[in-house]
Amino acid sequence: MSIDRLRATSLKYVKGIGPRRAELLENELGLSTAYDLLQHFPSHYLDRSQIYSIRDFRGEMPVVQVRGRFVSFSSAGEGAKERYIGLFSDGTGTMEVVWFRRLKWIRETYRTQTTYVLFGRPSEFSGRWSMVHPEIDDPSAAIAAIPLRGVYPLTEKLRNRSINSRAIYNMVSAVMETSDFANIAETLPRGIVNRLGLMSKVEALREVHNPTSADRVKRARNRLKFEELFFLQLNILRYSRRRAAALSGRRFTKVGHFFHSFYERFLPFPLTGAQKRVIKEIRADMNTGRQMNRLLQGDVGSGKTLVALMTMLIALDNGCQACLLAPTEILATQHFETLTKLAAPAGINIKLLTGSTPKRERDIIHSQLLDGSLHILVGTHAVIEDNVQFASLGMAVIDEQHRFGVAQRAKMWSKNSIPPHVLVMTATPIPRTLAMTLYGDLEVSVIDELPPGRKPVQTMLRYESHRMDVYRMISRQLREGRQVYIVYPLIKENEKLDLRSLEEGYESICDIYRDYRIAYVHGKMKPAEKDAQMNLFASGEAKILVATTVIEVGVNVPNATTMVIENAERFGLSQLHQLRGRVGRGGDQSYCILMSKAAIAKETRERLQIMTSTTDGFVVAEADLKMRGPGDIEGTAQSGLPIDLHIASLATDGPLLSLARKSAELVLENDPELTSPDNATLLHELNALFNKTIDWGRIS
Ligand code: ADP
Ligand code: MG
Repeated sequence: MSIDRLRATSLKYVKGIGPRRAELLENELGLSTAYDLLQHFPSHYLDRSQIYSIRDFRGEMPVVQVRGRFVSFSSAGEGAKERYIGLFSDGTGTMEVVWFRRLKWIRETYRTQTTYVLFGRPSEFSGRWSMVHPEIDDPSAAIAAIPLRGVYPLTEKLRNRSINSRAIYNMVSAVMETSDFANIAETLPRGIVNRLGLMSKVEALREVHNPTSADRVKRARNRLKFEELFFLQLNILRYSRRRAAALSGRRFTKVGHFFHSFYERFLPFPLTGAQKRVIKEIRADMNTGRQMNRLLQGDVGSGKTLVALMTMLIALDNGCQACLLAPTEILATQHFETLTKLAAPAGINIKLLTGSTPKRERDIIHSQLLDGSLHILVGTHAVIEDNVQFASLGMAVIDEQHRFGVAQRAKMWSKNSIPPHVLVMTATPIPRTLAMTLYGDLEVSVIDELPPGRKPVQTMLRYESHRMDVYRMISRQLREGRQVYIVYPLIKENEKLDLRSLEEGYESICDIYRDYRIAYVHGKMKPAEKDAQMNLFASGEAKILVATTVIEVGVNVPNATTMVIENAERFGLSQLHQLRGRVGRGGDQSYCILMSKAAIAKETRERLQIMTSTTDGFVVAEADLKMRGPGDIEGTAQSGLPIDLHIASLATDGPLLSLARKSAELVLENDPELTSPDNATLLHELNALFNKTIDWGRIS
C-alpha cells in the first residue's frame, strides 16, 4: 500500500531533502520518514489576506505579515558579529530587518524599490521595531491567492540552518507531489466517514498543509484528530474486550451482617453523598459476574479509606477475604491503624503484613489467611509475595496506584483461581479523557465532595524577599501547637545540588527554631531511618518536618497546618497539589506557601497562580494536562500513551475523543477481532500503528 511505502521512505530520498537535512530533521524533530513529515502538522496558520501596518505594532507581537519596500541597506559589526540591516518601510512606518547569516546571498538577492512581503515576529528595542531573519516571499508571487499559510513547529537549530517554516512546507510539498501520496487509501471505515461527514484521508492531509480556506482546514484537522483518537481507542478497546471476555469474576450478590452491623453501629460519621454514590457503583459492579477493575478517584482527604473499608465488608459478607495494599510501610501502618479503629469493634479480624513483620506474627497471619479466620490483610509489597496465600481472596484494594508497578499488580491476579475484584484508589485526579485513553474499559468512580466542615487550604505565592514574613508565620503556627512541613525539590539531574540545598535548609531551620524538635527525611536515607524520622513527626514529638517529596503520598498528620514548598517553581502542578493535601486534614485553618525566586517565566508564574486560585484537584489536573501534555502527568508518566499524538490533544479534544471511542466500540461490536474483509484496511493500519502491542487495557 502506498501509505506503507511512505512509512518506509527515508527522508533523505525525498526530492530536495538529501542526507544532511534528513539527519537534521531526524535529530531536531524526530522525523525520519516521508510519512513522519506528512504528520508534522502546522501548529497554526497565518492569515495571508491580513497585512499589518508597522504603525500598529505594539507590545508583544505575534508573527505578522508586512508588505513594503527596502529603503536602504547597511552593514554593521565584524567577524562573527557581522550583520546586514535593511531599513524597511510600508508607508505607515519603518522597521529594521536584520540578518546574521547567509549575508552574501542576502546582499545579492534583495533590492530597494521592489515590493516584498515579509513574515516575522517584530520586536521592539528602545522605541525601534525590528524583525530578525523574516521569511520573505518571492516578489513575483502574487499576494494571497491562498490566504492561509501553515506555521510549522521548528527548533532554534533548524532556523539557524535556514530551515524555516517555508522550507518545511516545500519539503512536505515534495512528498505531496508523489504518486504514493495521491494513492493514500482511506484508513477509516467507509461507514464512519460517511456518517460523520469526514474528509477523506488524502484530502485532509493536503488541506492541512496546503490550506484552501479556514473552514476546510478546520474540517481537515478535525478528521485527522478523529483518526488518531479513533485508533488509540480501537487499540485499547480491542484488548480490554478480550480481557473482559476472558475473565469472569465472583458475583457478590448480597450485603450482609458485616456491612450492616458496621454501618448501623460503628460508622463514625454520616457518609457524604459522594461516598454513598461511589459505594453503590462499586456494589453494582461486583455483582455483574465480571471481575471488577475500577479506579476510585478522590481528592486528598475526600474519604477514600472509608469507601475501601465498606467495599471490603461486602466481600466479607459474601464469604471472601480482602486485602489493602499501600506503597510504603508508613502508609500501610496508617491504614492498618485506621481500619482497626473503625472495624475491629464490629468483630472483624484485621492484620498488618510488611517487610518488618516478625516471623512469629507472619506465621500466624499465614495460617489465619489459609483457614479463613483473617478477614482483612493490610500491607505493603510483602503481601504480593508468593508465599502469602489466601483461602479466598475476593477483593483487593490498592492505594495510590502509581507507586506499584504493573507487573506487581498483575501478581495479585494469580492469588486465586478466580481473580479478585480490584479497586485502585488514587488521589491524583486523572482527567476523564486521559483515564479513558490510558485505561480503556477501566471503570472510574469519583468522590467529588469533601466531608463537611473542611476549611480549604489557603495557598499563597511568596518570593525570597518575603522569607522573614514566612518564618514569622511558621513561628505563630508553632506557638499555637501546630506542626509544619518544609519541602525541598529533589530532582535526579540536580541531585547533588538539591541535596545540598536541602541540608542547608535543614541547618538554617534548626538555627531559627532552636526550641523545637525538627525531623528530617529524604529518599536517600535507609528506610528504617526514614521511618524513625517520619514517626517523630507523626507522633507530634517533632514540630517541623524538613523533607523532600517522599512525604507526598498519603501521610496523615491532622495537626500539621502549614506546608512550605521551597523552589515551588520546580515542581509540577499535580505534585504541588499532592503536597498541599498533606495539610488541611484537621479542623484548623491550614496554609500552603509556595516559595519561589522572584525572576520566573510568565508561564511558571501562571502555573503557580493556578495553585493559589483553586483547591480543586481536577481543575489542577486539567491545567497540568493542558500545560505539560499527558506524558508528564504525575503518575501516568510511567505508563504514558502507547503512541504519540501528532495533532489531537487529550486536553482540548475531549468531545472528539468520546466520539472516537463510541465509533471504535461500534466497529468492535460488529467485528470483535476485525477479521471481516471490510475492516482489512482498518486492521492493517491498527497493526502499523501499534506494532509493539502492549496490553494497555489491563491495569492490575
Ligand atoms: P483520602 O481520600 O485522602 O484517603 P481519608 O480516607 O484519609 O482521605 O479521609 C480523610 C479524613 O476524613 C479522615 O480523617 C476520615 O476520618 C475523614 N472522613 C472520611 N469520611 C468522612 C465523612 N463522611 N465525614 C466526616 N469525615 C470523614
Ligand atoms: Mg488515603
